[in-house]
Amino acid sequence: MRTTVGIVGAGPAGLLLARLLHVAGIDCVVLESRDRAYVEHRQRAGILEQGTVDVLRAAGAGERMDRVGLRHDGIELRFGGRRHRVDFPALTGGRSVTVYAQTEVCKDLIALQLAQGGPLLFEAEALAVEDADTDRPRVRFRHEGVEDVLECDYVVGCDGFWGVARKAVPAGTARVFERTYPFGWLGILADVPPSHDELVYARHERGFALLSMRSPSVSRLYLQVPQDTDPRAWADEEIWDELTRRFATDDDWRLERGPITQKSVTPMRSYVHEPMRHGRLFLAGDAAHIVPPTGAKGLNLAVGDVVTFARALTHQRRTGSPALLDAYSQTCLRRVWQAERFSYDMTTLLHPDPGATPFEGRLQLARLERIASSRAAETDLAEGYTGFAFD
Ligand SMILES: Cc1cc2nc3c(=O)[nH]c(=O)nc-3n(C[C@H](O)[C@H](O)[C@H](O)COP(=O)(O)OP(=O)(O)OC[C@H]3O[C@@H](n4cnc5c(N)ncnc54)[C@H](O)[C@@H]3O)c2cc1C
Repeated sequence: MRTTVGIVGAGPAGLLLARLLHVAGIDCVVLESRDRAYVEHRQRAGILEQGTVDVLRAAGAGERMDRVGLRHDGIELRFGGRRHRVDFPALTGGRSVTVYAQTEVCKDLIALQLAQGGPLLFEAEALAVEDADTDRPRVRFRHEGVEDVLECDYVVGCDGFWGVARKAVPAGTARVFERTYPFGWLGILADVPPSHDELVYARHERGFALLSMRSPSVSRLYLQVPQDTDPRAWADEEIWDELTRRFATDDDWRLERGPITQKSVTPMRSYVHEPMRHGRLFLAGDAAHIVPPTGAKGLNLAVGDVVTFARALTHQRRTGSPALLDAYSQTCLRRVWQAERFSYDMTTLLHPDPGATPFEGRLQLARLERIASSRAAETDLAEGYTGFAFD
């Protein structure tokens, strides 16, 4: 098989890149190791920045998002029983975010790709990216039990943190920056209308909790738990009791309960692989960087990377200049590091660290007080949350 752009992975990064290339008239092949149902039902992100919404619309993938996505103009911070709303449009000159699940973004992009785009092969596992530093990079893959080779002009590794693309970058040419956190998130999906109409980020002595939603009838809630927690160790009623404690307020607000349909634990990690390019192999999304989910940035960063790649390749085809492709890593990393900083700030602001001293605990509360009382501090949070501009 031969194509212009070989895309490894059909998560949001790979699927959106395929769509952007289709719109630009550039052919590609997408290889995805899992089946379609798995990709369409993997519960993960849910918050789209304004820039991501604009890109999906411009790519012709915004119709259902515009119909059923929920525009959110703020979030609530909770600490010490108090509630403080951060009003995004008032602080950022009109920006907001949209609640639309990653599962739905993937469903929309898969449907478009299968109807209009180039080949999208499910259950096609990339085994290795080879000859990345030549003009003819290749992806060796296995599809329906048969090994094959995809010859490309460019390969984009969109295969997430555990993928194979990053392994094609020689160790001596890369640098990794990372931090793990001594806690994770126990996430549940519940068939109950959200108890609040905006996301609630609660800092409690017992740990962080997040109230979020997937639709007007489905809630998504998270609890900070020790690293390596087994989700089966938590009975459903225990989860609701703990959420109720952490969201408690001084007023009569109540958390509604409902049947829990999914439970999982997510580790918290910050990770950046530099550079994001080796020869004709480009890394995008979680294949190149991970942020803890507190800042809701992972999917949005993946979108930024593939927009940058699609623009750079289009520019190269139109003008013959590889300048934007050469600048890919630098361009993406500027935005990546701003998102890393914001996600780290949100995480350390809201999660009591089990190893922290009482002094550090008080500092955390002082940081929250500062946001609740200073327009400048609150604006910094609102700007970070609603997103950093694409370069
Ligand atoms: C609990 C949780 C909550 C989150 N909340 C948010 C949020 O609110 N907002 C936000 O922006 N982000 C959030 N994120 C992060 C977001 O989900 C990820 O950043 C996003 O999925 C990255 O997309 P991606 O396409 O780069 O990688 P992935 O979604 O990981 O997709 C990679 C794809 O590659 C495939 N693959 C892997 N190896 C191979 C191979 N060898 N061959 C072929 N295919 C392969 C995988 O099966 C997968 O389909 C959250 C993440 C988690 C876990």
